[in-house]
Amino acid sequence: MKKTIADMDLRGKRVLMRVDYNVPLDGDRKITDDSRIQASLPSVKYALEQGARLILMSHLGRPKGEVKAEFSLSPVAERLSCLLERDVRKLDDCVGEKVKEAVNSMEDGDVVLLENLRFHKEETANDPGFAGELASLGDIFVNDAFGTCHRAHASTEGVTRHLPSVAGFLVDKEIKYFEKVTGDPDKPFALILGGAKVSDKIPVIENMLDKIDYLLIGGAMAYTFLKSRLKGIGLSRVEDDMMDTVDRIFSLASAKEVSIFLPEDHVVADEIKETAKRKTTSDEHIPDGYIGLDIGPRTIKSYRSVLAESRTIVWNGPVGFFEMKPFSKGTREVAKFIAKLKATTVIGGGDTAAAVNQLKLGDKMSHMSTGGGASLEYLEGKELPGIAALNDK
Ligand code: AMP
Repeated sequence: MKKTIADMDLRGKRVLMRVDYNVPLDGDRKITDDSRIQASLPSVKYALEQGARLILMSHLGRPKGEVKAEFSLSPVAERLSCLLERDVRKLDDCVGEKVKEAVNSMEDGDVVLLENLRFHKEETANDPGFAGELASLGDIFVNDAFGTCHRAHASTEGVTRHLPSVAGFLVDKEIKYFEKVTGDPDKPFALILGGAKVSDKIPVIENMLDKIDYLLIGGAMAYTFLKSRLKGIGLSRVEDDMMDTVDRIFSLASAKEVSIFLPEDHVVADEIKETAKRKTTSDEHIPDGYIGLDIGPRTIKSYRSVLAESRTIVWNGPVGFFEMKPFSKGTREVAKFIAKLKATTVIGGGDTAAAVNQLKLGDKMSHMSTGGGASLEYLEGKELPGIAALNDK
């Protein structure tokens, strides 16, 4: 068990908190979705209520070690200031004399936001000198940025070599759910995998086959599985170099008594366009000239009956091309159905969380992960350096 912010005495301390403010911005640099800022509020408010001097740090986008105005965290400071109804001072850098002076002049209950960590290439290189400079700004380090915990960067791993280091509330919740589903899940356990590429999900399948009872496959990755079973897949997306791997997954699953469910019907179209000519197939075969873009009604029905009897459900990857309305039904129906269940439901970050959020069903799930890559690595059974580096209770 990792120590959390609640285990520490924060009064009068300089609390250096890594948050994930990598928010989407439009062309006018307006924040189009502030859910990542909202998600940080429990830890931020707690630290301030406890009388800490709070120093927030984050990356935004990929400035690749250069100062680029379009990646400044200024819009984030403004939004955070509105949400907290108090001043949030945004500093012009994240290290250096001026930053030190500003931090030294803080009083208990003050909050500052450092400028984009990735304006320095030393951040992603986990440069020890840079990590030491960041760490010198705080007395305690709090990591509340799950989305970057799978990377050993200066602000996630390097700083922990210098300071007592604990999890924020957001990271603590992520750890609890992922430890539960990968360590001691309630059975039966269904894993739903979708999305574009089989190759991205193979390490997850290999690790999770020991823990799950059912593997439900959707999205473009289903066509590679179907092709390996000699089903017609028309012009659907396929990874021909994965056939042997998929065969191996089928054998492993049968040895471990895991049932693999593949689509029994599909929504197909002659091109990937909202206006394309589309139809629903009568079985699992996709006719020549058509592209599979969503699971069909029979598949939705049978996936539902498997999910209804599951006590743990983990979902990563949309089961269709959900960004286009005509191909979003499968993903919507899966989301709506599992939102109603009593099971423990864990939604991987990235596209899956975006799809569930679009339907405003996020608060109906047990846990919506805030990290796409990080949640996948957890399910792959890998140690996340940003979490491993935190102090144990
Ligand atoms: P991933 O990042 O691998 O989870 O893939 C997510 C992407 O896969 C989303 O953009 C989906 O729209 C896309 N996707 C899902 N189903 C299909 C499909 N049948 N054909 C092509 N792309 C798909």
